[in-house]
Amino acid sequence: MAKIIALANQKGGVGKTTTSINLSSALAKAGKKVLLVDADPQGNASSGVGVDKSTLEHDIYDVLVQDFPVQKAIMPSSTEGLDILPTTIQLSEAEVQLVDMPEREYRLSQALTKVQGKYDYVIIDNPPSLGLLTINSFTAADAVLIPVQTEFYALEGLGQLINTIELVRQGLNPELEMAGILLTMYDSRTNLAKQVSEQVRGYFEDRVYQTVIPRSVRLSEAPSYGQAIIDFDPKSTGARLYTEFAKEVIEQYG
Ligand code: ADP
Ligand code: MG
Repeated sequence: MAKIIALANQKGGVGKTTTSINLSSALAKAGKKVLLVDADPQGNASSGVGVDKSTLEHDIYDVLVQDFPVQKAIMPSSTEGLDILPTTIQLSEAEVQLVDMPEREYRLSQALTKVQGKYDYVIIDNPPSLGLLTINSFTAADAVLIPVQTEFYALEGLGQLINTIELVRQGLNPELEMAGILLTMYDSRTNLAKQVSEQVRGYFEDRVYQTVIPRSVRLSEAPSYGQAIIDFDPKSTGARLYTEFAKEVIEQYG
């Protein structure tokens, strides 16, 4: 049965999508069967693993809103062993349409139940909000993994995020836990990055992963080639550190 991990932070630009892509592909390289679910209408996780969104016949929108069979919307990605449930911008309509639907918070959970037996990990990339799409992810997930950018205001909004996780735990999904916090875009040349990571570790202690993802141009270039860093530039620092991070996750969840 797959471990389902939702990547979330309502702040944009903190590394959710980059981490979703590169954690998924590193887990796949480590021999795990992995499904990446793109729950952000921007669809950057989909294009980042080689999906041509202009030719997609079905996506997560059809699954969530029209009861389309999830198996038929899943496709292979550019990384071997990694499948993707892609999205298109149409998903932005789902946030509104779901409001009036029965079991609106459970639609992703119900869909994933049908494929959970096929995978070791399901990794869900989320939009930068705490709306119904993210709530669907939290309801489906075993754990929430929070990327935090090592910049000013890193902790801003984390209280609200943790509160939302707690509310979901109390109501929709009592099993939901916090996987941990991943520090991203660390710039070792600045004191600020060091101070912020100390502050986050001081506050969240052992819930912060040991691996820290550095700021790296190669990591930001890879998506435009439709490839995870591990395929795009296997010898790069980014590839090495996302591989180490995947090891930490495997130690945690098997
Ligand atoms: P989010 O999904 O939280 O909005 P992204 O993963 O899309 O964040 O990252 C925001 C931007 O920063 C993207 O342009 C991405 O390529 C870039 N980026 C992410 N992680 C890194 C990194 N470690 N080093 C350099 N650029 C990064
Ligand atoms: Mg994103």
